[in-house]
Amino acid sequence: MSDQTELNAKPLHPQTSNALTSNDHGDLDSILARAHALPVDKVSFLRPEAALLELAQAYGIKSTSRLAYLPQPAVYPVHDWPDSSPFKSAAPDISLAYLFIDRDVLLRESRQAKDEIHGAMWKLLGRKIQALSFVDAAAVLSSDHLTEMAKLAVWVVEKNVQFTKSGMTIWCSKDVKGIPPKRRILRNCASFAFIRRTMFYEARLKRKSLAAYHQEVCTLLEQTGFPNDWNVQHAFEQIEALLHQEYSRIEDAWTENVELQWTCDPIAIEAVSTPIIDPDSIDCITCRDTLTPPGVRTPCNHTFCRSCLETWIHACEKASHTCPYCRAELFKKPDYMYKEPKVVINYQQELKQCDMLQKDMKLVEKSCKLFEAELELQKKFERETADIAVE
Ligand SMILES: [Zn+2]
Ligand SMILES: [Zn+2]
Repeated sequence: MSDQTELNAKPLHPQTSNALTSNDHGDLDSILARAHALPVDKVSFLRPEAALLELAQAYGIKSTSRLAYLPQPAVYPVHDWPDSSPFKSAAPDISLAYLFIDRDVLLRESRQAKDEIHGAMWKLLGRKIQALSFVDAAAVLSSDHLTEMAKLAVWVVEKNVQFTKSGMTIWCSKDVKGIPPKRRILRNCASFAFIRRTMFYEARLKRKSLAAYHQEVCTLLEQTGFPNDWNVQHAFEQIEALLHQEYSRIEDAWTENVELQWTCDPIAIEAVSTPIIDPDSIDCITCRDTLTPPGVRTPCNHTFCRSCLETWIHACEKASHTCPYCRAELFKKPDYMYKEPKVVINYQQELKQCDMLQKDMKLVEKSCKLFEAELELQKKFERETADIAVE
């Protein structure tokens, strides 16, 4: 197995000439910031030459370095974040943001051991440049060229790898007390997403091949108990199905058990209708029978048994303030109140939990999708630099 891997191995980063040792290299932070500000070819993902020229001059980095590429697809889902989200301002580094999210979803139940790394990740996210570019820079530069932020980015990757390898025994296939099945499956998805991302960034940092990266992920997933046939897409579908069931159950229970009532005295039937003097041979639209006297007529000219219309307008249904036949408004919709507010609060809490889980799932799902694109980019990078690596 390892022979095969070595044969297939191509470095993530082709060998570069020795990095310059001179201190006259400008500021890595600002060079990368300028590079990121330049428009990138969305088809090739190549940065414009100007950006690389500056890096090449300052550091002696070859234009075939991984830095020559966007570290991730150019389609940043910036608009997905609400204005209040810290990710909005840190949007350039969406990969790091998703690493953060995967980790957060994974660790939702325990804050243990995450604060220190999270603090560093927040710090990096707050920067306008991509921390992963620092990682790529660290892969080709000697450490005395790295700025504090670049060192922090490397630290974050290394710490996360350490956590992944030592603490990741998270796969759970059986019922776990206190964790509902859908949350448990989602945790496995987040765990999977987190493992992959972390190992991939480590591979970039250490210039390992994609083949070596795949091998390491497989081994680690095996060690953490992920079954061979486990499939992340299938897992998302399972969660979706469980959520669907849960939403239907809550909705049914709500319809059955939640009742509204008037906050004041119910409106009088006389206020919304006039008595019919001679009700003979007129039909009631509600009970579809000849009017049981006394009959009433609404302003919209529809006829009902008095008791039928009264039952309807006092029913506190969604449309009880309108004519049962033509939906013309008979009176202004009152503010009904819940008969048993406690029951309602319970349902609302259940709904909120489902919503939260769904939101978490969408984020992890998106992370997985984006990551696939990152892998594609890396494949392309390895293909295009293969010849140079051989030289
Ligand atoms: Zn009737
Ligand atoms: Zn009507």
